Amino acid sequence: MRVRDYVFAMKTNHVLGWSTPQRFSRWRKSWQFVIDSWQFIYTLLTFRTLSGQLKSGGLLLLYGLISLIILISCSKKDQSHDNGKINILATTGMIGDAVKNIARDSANVVALMGPGVDPHLYKATQGDLKKLQNADIIFYNGLHLEGKMSEIFEKLKRQKPVYPVSDGVPVSSLKVTDPNSNIYDPHIWFDVSIWKYAVSQINEKLGEEYPANKEYFNQNAQKYLDKLDSLHQSVIKMVNEIPEDERVLITAHDAFEYFGDAYGMEVKGLQGISTMSDYGLKDITDLVNFIIKRKIKAIFIETSVSERSINAVIEGCTEKGHDVAIGGSLYSDAMGPDGTFEGTYLGMVSSNVQKIVEALK
Ligand SMILES: [Zn+2]
Repeated sequence: MRVRDYVFAMKTNHVLGWSTPQRFSRWRKSWQFVIDSWQFIYTLLTFRTLSGQLKSGGLLLLYGLISLIILISCSKKDQSHDNGKINILATTGMIGDAVKNIARDSANVVALMGPGVDPHLYKATQGDLKKLQNADIIFYNGLHLEGKMSEIFEKLKRQKPVYPVSDGVPVSSLKVTDPNSNIYDPHIWFDVSIWKYAVSQINEKLGEEYPANKEYFNQNAQKYLDKLDSLHQSVIKMVNEIPEDERVLITAHDAFEYFGDAYGMEVKGLQGISTMSDYGLKDITDLVNFIIKRKIKAIFIETSVSERSINAVIEGCTEKGHDVAIGGSLYSDAMGPDGTFEGTYLGMVSSNVQKIVEALK
């Protein structure tokens, strides 16, 4: 283990309080009021005993101050923790959006990775560790999408409910990236019919953890799933507007394989399924030759991946006398800005498909 990793592990252990087992932490939460009251009485009693014993005014003042600080910090922790709602943390915006639609008013939902953030390369910051600590329940994609956070999730699972939404997707629907290994493509949100399994998984797990709200979650989930059904149908219709032999989607990294399978598009990414994988001159040349051979009009950049690789492909095409345009910036692994239509899952998918159809038809 390198020193840097060791320091990180130490910090993580400290901030997340790994030593507290899950059962104890839940028990503690429901009895927090009793614990706090007892702490208050105990502090007062000790204070009185000490004041009888100690004649030194300075020491008494110091002790009083320390007690006051402990009391304030206890009450602050309570305020941030509860206010009657479930604190749910999701890693990506897409998961956060599904959770918001299911839990609605019953929860405070935090999505860790905002617009333009690449989940493959994402590392948890100190601030994130606090958010993970404050969450009552955590949902993440899984299938190694959040590749640099897997260790954190494994440790958190000992402390609180932590669920990968991809667990709800039947293995038969998953795409294997390498036939010699059990590594699956994590970009399951791009086939809306597959994403519905992930949404149902969130609903199921929330219902299990909070049975009193189960019926409420079920009703909300059903409404959201109905919207996803309509979305799936409208994507099929829109893609059909592109002439059949021009249904080729070229992007910086291989995020759209599920999309291609579901909606009948040939898909090519310069990088592999993770932005961590490298690409070389040969990959660029091969893609340039493919674009020229198929007379492709437009290729796409992604909001969460650097434009550099796609620009290299465009330059390569120009050098060989084929003009290829940038068809737009697609939301691949992150949604659009908060508060906009693209900042929702429905908006992200619709906006992508609109750009693809406009550029290729
Ligand atoms: Zn990706």
